[in-house]
Amino acid sequence: MSKPIYLDAHSTTPVDDRVLEVMLPFFTEHFGNPASTTHEYGWAAESAVKRSRAIIAAAIGADPTEIAFTSGATEANNLAIKGVAEAHHSRGRHIVTVATEHNAVLDPCRYLESLGFEITILPVLSDGLVDLEKLEPALRDDTILVSVMAANNEIGVLQPITQIGQLCHDRGIFFHTDAAQAIGKIPLNVQQQNIDLMSLTAHKIYGPKGIGALYVRRRNPRVTIAPQLHGGGHERGMRSGTLAAPQIVGLAKAIELGVELMVEDNARMLALRDQLWQQIQALDGVSLNGHPTQRLAGNLNVSVAGVEGNALLMGLRSAMAISSGSACTSAKIEPSHVLQAMGVADELAFASVRFGIGRFNIATEIDQAAQAFASTVNHLRAG
Ligand SMILES: *Cc1c(COP(=O)(O)O)cnc(C)c1O
Repeated sequence: MSKPIYLDAHSTTPVDDRVLEVMLPFFTEHFGNPASTTHEYGWAAESAVKRSRAIIAAAIGADPTEIAFTSGATEANNLAIKGVAEAHHSRGRHIVTVATEHNAVLDPCRYLESLGFEITILPVLSDGLVDLEKLEPALRDDTILVSVMAANNEIGVLQPITQIGQLCHDRGIFFHTDAAQAIGKIPLNVQQQNIDLMSLTAHKIYGPKGIGALYVRRRNPRVTIAPQLHGGGHERGMRSGTLAAPQIVGLAKAIELGVELMVEDNARMLALRDQLWQQIQALDGVSLNGHPTQRLAGNLNVSVAGVEGNALLMGLRSAMAISSGSACTSAKIEPSHVLQAMGVADELAFASVRFGIGRFNIATEIDQAAQAFASTVNHLRAG
């Protein structure tokens, strides 16, 4: 039996050969510690980190000194949210976020709530987009931070972060965006979009797992954050720990490739997504979750009436690797908090699956997946 077709690109992606190739020398011949500035082993690693920082900064319109490397987007979100809260609580203790955020944003907010911060969780419209009319009145004199993701990991919708950045900027409130699913897939510019903090990760864009970054604005306004890891004072005091040079080189290459290939990758994935949707739509009782056009090219999230979600996934798993809702919450048997926030009924939310089409998927795989999907649904409905 051949392996199932991989259609779970929002969960993680394979490392692109071009990324792996630039990483390899930093495991072996250039193994030095980037902080060891007394010898050429350290210098080689240090200069690679410096180049990587410049590549990442350029991709988002930032300055290299505004990039702090982390272990991924979970850590970057924690550093941004808890770091701002800890550094600015004397100014205010109110934070605004959205019901459909990743748990790596919601859980730090809940933690801060337990420490006495006040968290406003904004609702979304039925298409998954944040209700901007509810955002403005939620901003208060004591609001210190707004955190809204750029692209949703379950339903792929693109939040109106440019408008949100402007609203925050006008009021002197810091704006953080979790761009784990957005970097390399949609254009991002921290200046034009008034983004003060932005979380990045490599493994959703064909880079290695275990590396990410937090952009932290230094000018107009300067954003200070309290470090969450104390140690050698790396990353301008924001995040201590020996820099993972191979991973950092991989993150930079993944972002560079993402930006370079963005237009052609998106066009190809959009065509595959439409092909998949057309074939799935031919089944009765299938509905698309999330805004039909304001979404990531590779995302398709559908609810299938009249089937049991678990049975559907079981029936499909030898043919394709897809996910029900977010992988991070799939251990718990409860409907996706994202679909719930959109007002999708529990029964339909349970019967929802997420397809994540990636850079390496091809049309024949999509046809095979669509056929397997249709026959499984028909079989379950007949049974
Ligand atoms: C995957 C993901 C994360 C977590 O990123 P890691 O690098 O795996 O910690 C956070 N937010 C979103 C939107 C994600 O998709």
